[in-house]
Amino acid sequence: MSISKYALKAGIIVTPEDTMENASILVENNKIKDINNTEKKVHEFDLGDKIIFPGLINAHDHLLGTYYPRIGNGPYLNWLPWDNDLKSSPIYAERSRIPPKLVYQLGAYRNLIAGTTTVSDHIPHFVSDPYVKTLPIRVMKNYTLAHECSEYDLKWGDGIDVEYKKAVKDNFAFITHIEEGYDEESEEGIDVLLHHKALGAHAVLIHAIALSDKDIKLVAKNKANLVWCPNSNMFMFNRTGNVKKWLENKINVSLGTDSPMSGGLNLLDELRYGKTTYKNINKKDIDDKILIKMATINAARAFRLEDKIGSIEKNKLADLIAINGDVKNPYSSLVNAKLEDVALVIYEGKPVYGDKEYKDIFKKLGVKTSKFKINKKEKISACDLLGLLKEIRKLVGFKKTLPFLPIE
Ligand SMILES: [Zn+2]
Repeated sequence: MSISKYALKAGIIVTPEDTMENASILVENNKIKDINNTEKKVHEFDLGDKIIFPGLINAHDHLLGTYYPRIGNGPYLNWLPWDNDLKSSPIYAERSRIPPKLVYQLGAYRNLIAGTTTVSDHIPHFVSDPYVKTLPIRVMKNYTLAHECSEYDLKWGDGIDVEYKKAVKDNFAFITHIEEGYDEESEEGIDVLLHHKALGAHAVLIHAIALSDKDIKLVAKNKANLVWCPNSNMFMFNRTGNVKKWLENKINVSLGTDSPMSGGLNLLDELRYGKTTYKNINKKDIDDKILIKMATINAARAFRLEDKIGSIEKNKLADLIAINGDVKNPYSSLVNAKLEDVALVIYEGKPVYGDKEYKDIFKKLGVKTSKFKINKKEKISACDLLGLLKEIRKLVGFKKTLPFLPIE
């Protein structure tokens, strides 16, 4: 019989608003029942000097675009010529040999091993619905969308006004790419949203690299949310959004990887790259805690899931990660964490991925595991990561390597 209630203890717990040393989290079924567990009889797993964070949230991805290498020869004027380059590339044809179900799994594993338990997959529901149910991480479902706000966009959804109204009615997020480029139409993105009465608290706006000062003020005034994808922006445009101004205007900013065919390898890569990019542009450091909030609570807030995920709080879902690092500098430890430093990932109370030394936790919670190595470190998972990689290699006909899944 596996247990359904346990305590998880570590060197430090980062909520992420606060930190608690030598604390433990009481998990019951899929939820956090308490912090600083005082129940004596419950089984405790002691993770030693590890640092526990809430599971990370990737605020922008396209799971169906999970492949490598990056395609493109920027800087581009807007996303459209990049999309044309992508779709005419031999790598795109190679990826097309892998069925969508497996590409979705690949996308989930890419996020999972980087400590990401929730992802926003920007795609119409009818495309993703058949594939997301069996994944080991959460793919958000509570959204309406547009692809973008130009005449040349991909016409997802029923139109900006209709989709935004639906979002308000159901308390969903309305997701769209915005001002991802420097042509006249791209630069009018915020005005287009205003025109359609879609610039409000439900709006989650991706990229926003061309926002004018006036646009930033409008986003702030209307309490819309912005998502920063620095890797993707720099790769495609050699520019990115003015995050310093976004933050000064108290806009809720989250972090996203975008697909690895234009963006970062994973959210850990994005945290590091975001830090470097911010410094290169502004000649000063961004606070690590702000970056961590972008990848946790800010994203939960933007997607209207703040009562369920994004922080370690009583009654929220038990999405937890443990990483190696310095308990005296927990935030920078996560910003600088490598894939091998992700020691344990718990999704809704169940372990799904971690170091081999935590095999006992998987066993006691009734989770069967497969094993593999990441950068020589022995890992285990509830999913068959190596099996998927082997199947992909068979489908493409050679020993494909994917740097976001460096397993052996
Ligand atoms: Zn995108």
